[in-house]
Amino acid sequence: MMEASPSTEPPATTDPPPTTEPPSGDVENLPENIKDAKEAGPAFHCDICDAELLFKITQALLPGLATACVDNTTGGVFRSPGSVAADIRKELVEYLTQRTETYVAESVVQEGGPEMEVFDNPYDIIAFLIDEFAVSKRNLFSRVSALLLSERREDSIDDFAQQMEINGFWPVDRREAIVQTLLKNVDVKNEYHCNMKFETAEELALHVPTCSFRVMTCENEGCDARFSANKVEKHDSVCPFKIIPCEQKCPAFLIRREMDRHCITVCPMKLVNCPFFSVGCKTGVPSCKIEEHQSQELHYHILYILQGMYKDAPDEVLKERVDQIEEKAGGRLANAKTVRSLTSKVKDVDAKLPPLVIETKKEEETSETEAKPESREVSGTNGNTENAAGTKEVVNSESAPPSSKDSEEAPEATAENSVKGSEVDTKNETNED
Ligand SMILES: [Zn+2]
Ligand SMILES: [Zn+2]
Ligand SMILES: [Zn+2]
Ligand SMILES: [Zn+2]
Repeated sequence: MMEASPSTEPPATTDPPPTTEPPSGDVENLPENIKDAKEAGPAFHCDICDAELLFKITQALLPGLATACVDNTTGGVFRSPGSVAADIRKELVEYLTQRTETYVAESVVQEGGPEMEVFDNPYDIIAFLIDEFAVSKRNLFSRVSALLLSERREDSIDDFAQQMEINGFWPVDRREAIVQTLLKNVDVKNEYHCNMKFETAEELALHVPTCSFRVMTCENEGCDARFSANKVEKHDSVCPFKIIPCEQKCPAFLIRREMDRHCITVCPMKLVNCPFFSVGCKTGVPSCKIEEHQSQELHYHILYILQGMYKDAPDEVLKERVDQIEEKAGGRLANAKTVRSLTSKVKDVDAKLPPLVIETKKEEETSETEAKPESREVSGTNGNTENAAGTKEVVNSESAPPSSKDSEEAPEATAENSVKGSEVDTKNETNED
Protein backbone atom coordinates (compact mmCIF):
# COMPACT_ATOMS: atom_id res chain seq x y z
CA MET A 1 0.00 0.00 0.00
CA MET A 2 1.18 3.52 0.68
CA GLU A 3 4.83 4.07 1.33
CA ALA A 4 6.11 6.87 3.45
CA SER A 5 6.24 9.90 1.21
CA PRO A 6 9.61 11.59 1.11
CA SER A 7 9.94 14.63 3.26
CA THR A 8 8.98 17.81 1.51
CA GLU A 9 10.91 19.90 3.95
CA PRO A 10 14.02 21.69 2.72
CA PRO A 11 17.16 20.02 3.90
CA ALA A 12 18.30 21.74 7.07
CA THR A 13 21.97 22.01 7.69
CA THR A 14 22.55 24.18 10.73
CA ASP A 15 19.09 24.34 12.27
CA PRO A 16 18.41 22.29 15.40
CA PRO A 17 16.09 19.33 14.94
CA PRO A 18 12.53 20.55 14.46
CA THR A 19 10.20 20.66 17.39
CA THR A 20 7.84 17.76 17.92
CA GLU A 21 4.96 20.20 18.31
CA PRO A 22 2.32 19.36 15.75
CA PRO A 23 1.01 22.27 13.70
CA SER A 24 -2.02 23.75 15.39
CA GLY A 25 -3.26 25.53 12.32
CA ASP A 26 -6.39 24.90 10.37
CA VAL A 27 -4.78 22.82 7.65
CA GLU A 28 -7.10 19.85 7.57
CA ASN A 29 -9.02 19.29 4.38
CA LEU A 30 -11.99 17.00 4.15
CA PRO A 31 -11.72 14.70 1.16
CA GLU A 32 -14.17 15.53 -1.59
CA ASN A 33 -16.24 12.40 -1.14
CA ILE A 34 -17.09 13.33 2.46
CA LYS A 35 -18.42 16.71 1.35
CA ASP A 36 -20.35 15.11 -1.47
CA ALA A 37 -21.97 12.47 0.69
CA LYS A 38 -24.16 15.02 2.43
CA GLU A 39 -25.54 16.39 -0.81
CA ALA A 40 -26.21 13.06 -2.45
CA GLY A 41 -29.84 12.35 -3.32
CA PRO A 42 -32.86 14.55 -3.08
CA ALA A 43 -34.16 13.04 0.14
CA PHE A 44 -33.51 14.47 3.58
CA HIS A 45 -31.47 12.00 5.59
CA CYS A 46 -31.46 11.60 9.33
CA ASP A 47 -27.75 11.51 10.16
CA ILE A 48 -27.83 10.55 13.80
CA CYS A 49 -25.32 7.91 14.92
CA ASP A 50 -25.03 5.92 18.11
CA ALA A 51 -23.51 8.45 20.50
CA GLU A 52 -21.42 6.01 22.52
CA LEU A 53 -19.88 4.29 19.52
CA LEU A 54 -19.27 7.61 17.77
CA PHE A 55 -17.38 8.80 20.83
CA LYS A 56 -15.39 5.58 21.14
CA ILE A 57 -14.22 5.63 17.51
CA THR A 58 -13.51 9.36 17.67
CA GLN A 59 -11.20 8.66 20.61
CA ALA A 60 -9.28 6.09 18.58
CA LEU A 61 -8.28 8.49 15.80
CA LEU A 62 -5.67 10.53 17.67
CA PRO A 63 -3.64 7.57 19.00
CA GLY A 64 -3.82 6.04 15.52
CA LEU A 65 -2.51 9.20 13.92
CA ALA A 66 0.18 9.55 16.61
CA THR A 67 1.34 5.97 15.97
CA ALA A 68 1.62 6.58 12.23
CA CYS A 69 3.52 9.86 12.75
CA VAL A 70 5.97 8.41 15.29
CA ASP A 71 6.64 5.23 13.32
CA ASN A 72 7.08 7.27 10.14
CA THR A 73 9.77 9.50 11.60
CA THR A 74 11.62 7.23 14.04
CA GLY A 75 15.36 7.54 13.62
CA GLY A 76 15.06 10.57 11.38
CA VAL A 77 17.21 13.49 12.47
CA PHE A 78 15.30 16.23 10.74
CA ARG A 79 11.79 14.89 10.59
CA SER A 80 9.69 14.88 13.73
CA PRO A 81 6.18 13.47 14.20
CA GLY A 82 4.94 17.06 14.27
CA SER A 83 6.44 17.81 10.86
CA VAL A 84 4.47 15.05 9.14
CA ALA A 85 1.25 15.17 11.21
CA ALA A 86 -0.80 17.30 8.81
CA ASP A 87 0.10 15.21 5.75
CA ILE A 88 -0.42 11.93 7.48
CA ARG A 89 -3.75 13.06 8.92
CA LYS A 90 -4.98 13.84 5.42
CA GLU A 91 -3.80 10.47 4.18
CA LEU A 92 -5.40 8.72 7.14
CA VAL A 93 -8.80 10.31 6.48
CA GLU A 94 -8.64 9.42 2.81
CA TYR A 95 -7.51 5.92 3.55
CA LEU A 96 -10.25 5.26 6.11
CA THR A 97 -12.92 6.77 3.87
CA GLN A 98 -11.94 4.57 0.92
CA ARG A 99 -11.42 1.40 2.94
CA THR A 100 -14.70 1.69 4.86
CA GLU A 101 -16.58 2.05 1.59
CA THR A 102 -15.41 -1.34 0.41
CA TYR A 103 -14.53 -3.20 3.60
CA VAL A 104 -17.87 -4.85 4.28
CA ALA A 105 -18.37 -5.95 0.67
CA GLU A 106 -14.83 -7.36 0.60
CA SER A 107 -15.18 -9.12 3.91
CA VAL A 108 -18.32 -10.90 2.70
CA VAL A 109 -16.37 -12.25 -0.25
CA GLN A 110 -13.38 -13.13 1.92
CA GLU A 111 -15.28 -14.64 4.80
CA GLY A 112 -13.96 -18.05 5.65
CA GLY A 113 -10.77 -17.34 3.77
CA PRO A 114 -7.51 -17.50 5.65
CA GLU A 115 -6.23 -14.12 4.54
CA MET A 116 -8.40 -11.52 6.18
CA GLU A 117 -9.73 -10.93 9.65
CA VAL A 118 -13.46 -10.24 9.57
CA PHE A 119 -15.06 -7.94 12.11
CA ASP A 120 -18.72 -7.22 12.71
CA ASN A 121 -18.65 -4.28 15.05
CA PRO A 122 -17.98 -0.88 13.41
CA TYR A 123 -15.50 -0.02 16.13
CA ASP A 124 -13.49 -3.20 15.49
CA ILE A 125 -13.51 -2.58 11.75
CA ILE A 126 -12.36 1.02 11.99
CA ALA A 127 -9.77 0.26 14.67
CA PHE A 128 -8.42 -2.49 12.41
CA LEU A 129 -8.20 -0.10 9.47
CA ILE A 130 -6.49 2.60 11.56
CA ASP A 131 -3.94 0.00 12.58
CA GLU A 132 -3.51 -1.15 9.00
CA PHE A 133 -2.83 2.44 7.97
CA ALA A 134 -0.32 3.01 10.79
CA VAL A 135 1.59 -0.13 9.84
CA SER A 136 1.80 1.09 6.23
CA LYS A 137 3.44 4.32 7.41
CA ARG A 138 6.30 2.63 9.24
CA ASN A 139 9.67 3.65 7.89
CA LEU A 140 12.54 1.26 7.46
CA PHE A 141 14.03 2.17 10.80
CA SER A 142 10.86 1.59 12.83
CA ARG A 143 10.28 -1.81 11.27
CA VAL A 144 13.02 -3.23 13.45
CA SER A 145 10.98 -5.39 15.77
CA ALA A 146 12.86 -4.43 18.91
CA LEU A 147 11.85 -0.81 18.35
CA LEU A 148 8.22 -1.71 17.77
CA LEU A 149 8.05 -3.38 21.14
CA SER A 150 9.99 -0.77 23.05
CA GLU A 151 8.46 1.23 25.87
CA ARG A 152 10.09 4.36 24.51
CA ARG A 153 8.02 4.08 21.36
CA GLU A 154 4.82 3.69 23.42
CA ASP A 155 5.74 6.76 25.43
CA SER A 156 6.47 8.81 22.31
CA ILE A 157 3.10 7.83 20.84
CA ASP A 158 1.24 8.67 24.05
CA ASP A 159 3.06 11.99 24.36
CA PHE A 160 2.42 12.98 20.79
CA ALA A 161 -1.28 12.04 20.96
CA GLN A 162 -1.56 14.11 24.12
CA GLN A 163 0.16 17.10 22.50
CA MET A 164 -2.25 17.00 19.59
CA GLU A 165 -5.17 16.81 22.02
CA ILE A 166 -3.93 19.78 24.02
CA ASN A 167 -3.12 22.13 21.17
CA GLY A 168 -6.32 21.29 19.31
CA PHE A 169 -4.55 19.97 16.23
CA TRP A 170 -7.54 17.80 15.36
CA PRO A 171 -10.61 19.09 17.23
CA VAL A 172 -13.12 16.55 18.43
CA ASP A 173 -16.01 17.90 16.36
CA ARG A 174 -13.95 17.53 13.17
CA ARG A 175 -13.06 13.98 14.09
CA GLU A 176 -16.68 13.22 14.93
CA ALA A 177 -17.85 14.47 11.53
CA ILE A 178 -15.39 12.12 9.83
CA VAL A 179 -16.26 9.18 12.06
CA GLN A 180 -19.95 9.71 11.32
CA THR A 181 -19.24 9.02 7.64
CA LEU A 182 -16.99 6.06 8.40
CA LEU A 183 -19.56 4.59 10.75
CA LYS A 184 -22.31 4.76 8.16
CA ASN A 185 -20.03 3.12 5.61
CA VAL A 186 -19.41 0.05 7.74
CA ASP A 187 -22.68 -0.16 9.66
CA VAL A 188 -24.54 -1.89 6.85
CA LYS A 189 -26.97 -3.54 9.24
CA ASN A 190 -28.08 -0.16 10.54
CA GLU A 191 -27.50 -1.05 14.14
CA TYR A 192 -25.57 2.09 14.99
CA HIS A 193 -27.07 4.84 12.87
CA CYS A 194 -30.43 6.04 11.64
CA ASN A 195 -30.99 5.64 7.92
CA MET A 196 -34.42 7.23 7.65
CA LYS A 197 -35.00 9.50 4.68
CA PHE A 198 -37.64 12.16 4.26
CA GLU A 199 -39.12 14.11 1.37
CA THR A 200 -39.09 17.47 3.12
CA ALA A 201 -37.03 19.26 5.72
CA GLU A 202 -40.16 19.61 7.84
CA GLU A 203 -40.68 15.87 7.97
CA LEU A 204 -37.07 15.38 8.98
CA ALA A 205 -37.40 18.06 11.66
CA LEU A 206 -40.43 16.22 13.03
CA HIS A 207 -38.52 12.94 13.09
CA VAL A 208 -35.37 14.12 14.87
CA PRO A 209 -36.88 14.59 18.37
CA THR A 210 -38.23 11.04 18.22
CA CYS A 211 -35.29 9.37 16.44
CA SER A 212 -34.23 6.26 18.30
CA PHE A 213 -30.60 7.34 17.89
CA ARG A 214 -31.09 10.86 19.30
CA VAL A 215 -28.61 11.62 22.05
CA MET A 216 -29.85 11.34 25.61
CA THR A 217 -28.05 12.22 28.79
CA CYS A 218 -28.33 10.23 31.97
CA GLU A 219 -30.68 11.72 34.54
CA ASN A 220 -29.02 10.12 37.52
CA GLU A 221 -27.24 12.69 39.64
CA GLY A 222 -23.48 12.64 39.11
CA CYS A 223 -23.62 10.70 35.82
CA ASP A 224 -22.61 12.47 32.62
CA ALA A 225 -23.04 9.53 30.26
CA ARG A 226 -24.45 10.20 26.80
CA PHE A 227 -26.12 7.50 24.77
CA SER A 228 -28.70 6.93 22.08
CA ALA A 229 -32.36 6.86 23.10
CA ASN A 230 -32.54 3.17 22.22
CA LYS A 231 -29.82 2.48 24.80
CA VAL A 232 -31.60 4.07 27.75
CA GLU A 233 -32.51 0.78 29.35
CA LYS A 234 -29.10 -0.71 28.71
CA HIS A 235 -27.39 2.22 30.39
CA ASP A 236 -29.88 2.25 33.22
CA SER A 237 -29.00 -1.35 34.00
CA VAL A 238 -25.33 -0.50 34.49
CA CYS A 239 -25.31 3.22 35.39
CA PRO A 240 -22.92 3.57 38.33
CA PHE A 241 -24.95 6.46 39.71
CA LYS A 242 -28.37 4.82 39.73
CA ILE A 243 -29.89 4.48 43.16
CA ILE A 244 -30.84 0.89 43.82
CA PRO A 245 -31.83 -1.22 46.84
CA CYS A 246 -29.11 -3.11 48.69
CA GLU A 247 -28.16 -6.33 46.90
CA GLN A 248 -28.03 -8.13 50.23
CA LYS A 249 -31.58 -7.00 50.91
CA CYS A 250 -30.96 -4.73 53.86
CA PRO A 251 -33.32 -1.72 53.90
CA ALA A 252 -30.70 0.68 52.46
CA PHE A 253 -30.84 2.34 49.02
CA LEU A 254 -27.54 3.50 47.53
CA ILE A 255 -25.87 4.30 44.21
CA ARG A 256 -24.69 1.28 42.28
CA ARG A 257 -21.01 2.11 42.38
CA GLU A 258 -21.04 2.10 46.18
CA MET A 259 -22.80 -1.24 46.44
CA ASP A 260 -19.76 -3.48 46.70
CA ARG A 261 -18.19 -1.43 49.42
CA HIS A 262 -21.47 -1.17 51.35
CA CYS A 263 -22.03 -4.91 51.17
CA ILE A 264 -18.66 -5.76 52.66
CA THR A 265 -18.54 -2.99 55.25
CA VAL A 266 -21.59 -1.38 56.86
CA CYS A 267 -24.41 -3.48 55.45
CA PRO A 268 -26.32 -5.08 58.34
CA MET A 269 -26.87 -8.12 56.12
CA LYS A 270 -23.14 -8.63 55.66
CA LEU A 271 -22.23 -12.21 56.47
CA VAL A 272 -19.98 -12.53 59.48
CA ASN A 273 -18.60 -15.51 61.35
CA CYS A 274 -20.61 -16.78 64.27
CA PRO A 275 -18.85 -15.92 67.59
CA PHE A 276 -18.59 -19.68 68.04
CA PHE A 277 -16.68 -20.11 64.77
CA SER A 278 -13.50 -21.05 66.60
CA VAL A 279 -15.17 -23.98 68.35
CA GLY A 280 -16.90 -25.28 65.24
CA CYS A 281 -19.94 -23.20 64.19
CA LYS A 282 -18.97 -22.47 60.59
CA THR A 283 -22.28 -20.87 59.57
CA GLY A 284 -22.04 -17.42 57.99
CA VAL A 285 -24.57 -15.18 59.72
CA PRO A 286 -25.87 -11.73 58.64
CA SER A 287 -24.37 -9.33 61.18
CA CYS A 288 -27.82 -8.05 62.22
CA LYS A 289 -28.98 -11.61 62.90
CA ILE A 290 -26.21 -12.70 65.24
CA GLU A 291 -28.45 -12.44 68.33
CA GLU A 292 -31.17 -14.44 66.66
CA HIS A 293 -28.66 -17.06 65.55
CA GLN A 294 -27.17 -17.31 69.02
CA SER A 295 -30.49 -18.06 70.65
CA GLN A 296 -31.65 -20.40 67.88
CA GLU A 297 -28.39 -22.34 67.76
CA LEU A 298 -27.59 -22.37 71.49
CA HIS A 299 -28.06 -26.12 71.53
CA TYR A 300 -25.34 -26.59 68.90
CA HIS A 301 -23.01 -24.06 70.50
CA ILE A 302 -23.18 -25.99 73.77
CA LEU A 303 -22.53 -29.18 71.84
CA TYR A 304 -19.37 -27.67 70.28
CA ILE A 305 -18.11 -26.74 73.71
CA LEU A 306 -18.79 -30.23 75.04
CA GLN A 307 -16.98 -31.68 72.03
CA GLY A 308 -13.98 -29.63 73.09
CA MET A 309 -14.27 -30.86 76.65
CA TYR A 310 -14.86 -34.55 75.85
CA LYS A 311 -12.74 -35.35 72.83
CA ASP A 312 -13.44 -39.05 72.92
CA ALA A 313 -17.16 -38.88 73.46
CA PRO A 314 -19.46 -39.82 70.57
CA ASP A 315 -21.90 -37.15 69.43
CA GLU A 316 -24.97 -39.13 70.54
CA VAL A 317 -23.67 -39.12 74.09
CA LEU A 318 -22.85 -35.44 73.97
CA LYS A 319 -26.22 -34.50 72.50
CA GLU A 320 -27.90 -36.06 75.50
CA ARG A 321 -25.51 -34.20 77.74
CA VAL A 322 -26.52 -30.94 76.04
CA ASP A 323 -30.17 -31.68 76.84
CA GLN A 324 -29.30 -32.39 80.46
CA ILE A 325 -27.22 -29.21 80.73
CA GLU A 326 -29.94 -27.06 79.18
CA GLU A 327 -32.53 -28.55 81.48
CA LYS A 328 -30.38 -28.03 84.53
CA ALA A 329 -29.41 -24.46 83.56
CA GLY A 330 -33.01 -23.45 82.98
CA GLY A 331 -32.34 -20.67 80.47
CA ARG A 332 -29.31 -19.20 82.23
CA LEU A 333 -27.04 -20.05 79.27
CA ALA A 334 -28.92 -17.86 76.80
CA ASN A 335 -27.13 -14.65 77.72
CA ALA A 336 -23.63 -16.10 77.39
CA LYS A 337 -22.61 -14.59 74.06
CA THR A 338 -18.94 -15.50 73.82
CA VAL A 339 -17.03 -18.75 73.74
CA ARG A 340 -15.39 -17.86 77.04
CA SER A 341 -18.56 -17.06 78.96
CA LEU A 342 -20.59 -19.93 77.55
CA THR A 343 -17.75 -22.36 78.20
CA SER A 344 -17.45 -21.35 81.80
CA LYS A 345 -21.22 -21.62 82.35
CA VAL A 346 -21.40 -24.97 80.60
CA LYS A 347 -18.58 -26.24 82.81
CA ASP A 348 -20.35 -25.02 85.94
CA VAL A 349 -23.52 -26.85 85.05
CA ASP A 350 -21.64 -29.89 83.76
CA ALA A 351 -19.87 -30.20 87.09
CA LYS A 352 -23.20 -30.48 88.88
CA LEU A 353 -24.27 -33.43 86.71
CA PRO A 354 -23.06 -36.97 87.26
CA PRO A 355 -19.70 -37.61 85.54
CA LEU A 356 -19.92 -38.36 81.83
CA VAL A 357 -19.05 -41.99 81.23
CA ILE A 358 -17.83 -43.28 77.92
CA GLU A 359 -17.69 -47.00 77.30
CA THR A 360 -14.78 -48.37 75.33
CA LYS A 361 -13.45 -51.81 74.49
CA LYS A 362 -9.92 -50.52 74.50
CA GLU A 363 -7.38 -52.98 75.83
CA GLU A 364 -5.70 -52.06 79.09
CA GLU A 365 -2.24 -52.56 77.53
CA THR A 366 -2.84 -50.30 74.54
CA SER A 367 -0.35 -47.53 74.76
CA GLU A 368 -1.82 -44.09 75.05
CA THR A 369 -0.48 -42.82 71.77
CA GLU A 370 -1.92 -45.76 69.89
CA ALA A 371 -5.47 -45.19 71.06
CA LYS A 372 -7.82 -46.18 68.28
CA PRO A 373 -10.98 -44.10 68.24
CA GLU A 374 -12.77 -46.67 66.06
CA SER A 375 -12.48 -49.21 68.85
CA ARG A 376 -14.77 -47.18 71.05
CA GLU A 377 -18.34 -48.28 71.30
CA VAL A 378 -21.27 -47.04 73.20
CA SER A 379 -23.70 -49.59 74.49
CA GLY A 380 -27.25 -48.49 74.73
CA THR A 381 -28.25 -44.88 74.41
CA ASN A 382 -27.13 -43.77 77.81
CA GLY A 383 -23.49 -42.82 78.02
CA ASN A 384 -23.50 -43.41 81.75
CA THR A 385 -24.58 -47.03 81.51
CA GLU A 386 -21.91 -49.37 82.68
CA ASN A 387 -20.95 -52.16 80.37
CA ALA A 388 -19.29 -55.19 81.84
CA ALA A 389 -17.45 -55.95 78.60
CA GLY A 390 -15.88 -52.56 78.29
CA THR A 391 -13.79 -50.38 80.47
CA LYS A 392 -15.26 -47.37 82.06
CA GLU A 393 -13.65 -44.22 80.87
CA VAL A 394 -14.18 -40.75 82.15
CA VAL A 395 -12.57 -38.10 80.07
CA ASN A 396 -11.21 -34.90 81.42
CA SER A 397 -12.06 -31.70 79.71
CA GLU A 398 -8.68 -30.20 78.95
CA SER A 399 -8.32 -30.32 75.21
CA ALA A 400 -8.33 -28.29 72.04
CA PRO A 401 -11.57 -27.28 70.31
CA PRO A 402 -13.07 -29.87 67.96
CA SER A 403 -12.82 -29.38 64.25
CA SER A 404 -16.50 -29.79 63.51
CA LYS A 405 -19.74 -30.80 65.11
CA ASP A 406 -20.05 -33.81 62.85
CA SER A 407 -16.65 -35.16 63.66
CA GLU A 408 -16.89 -38.72 64.90
CA GLU A 409 -13.18 -39.19 65.31
CA ALA A 410 -11.43 -37.92 68.37
CA PRO A 411 -7.98 -36.49 67.73
CA GLU A 412 -5.23 -38.84 68.87
CA ALA A 413 -3.81 -36.34 71.31
CA THR A 414 -6.86 -36.67 73.54
CA ALA A 415 -5.84 -40.14 74.54
CA GLU A 416 -3.19 -38.52 76.66
CA ASN A 417 -5.84 -36.63 78.52
CA SER A 418 -8.08 -39.55 79.33
CA VAL A 419 -7.96 -40.55 82.95
CA LYS A 420 -9.44 -43.90 83.71
CA GLY A 421 -11.71 -44.12 86.69
CA SER A 422 -11.26 -40.52 87.72
CA GLU A 423 -13.92 -37.90 87.81
CA VAL A 424 -14.19 -35.13 85.28
CA ASP A 425 -12.03 -32.24 86.28
CA THR A 426 -14.35 -29.33 85.74
CA LYS A 427 -11.96 -26.80 87.19
CA ASN A 428 -9.60 -27.07 84.23
CA GLU A 429 -9.38 -24.05 82.00
CA THR A 430 -10.20 -24.82 78.42
CA ASN A 431 -7.99 -23.33 75.81
CA GLU A 432 -10.64 -21.89 73.57
CA ASP A 433 -10.20 -18.47 71.99
ZN1 LIG B 1 -33.27 9.29 12.82
ZN1 LIG C 1 -25.90 7.13 34.18
ZN1 LIG D 1 -27.14 -3.51 52.69
ZN1 LIG E 1 -23.17 -20.28 65.53
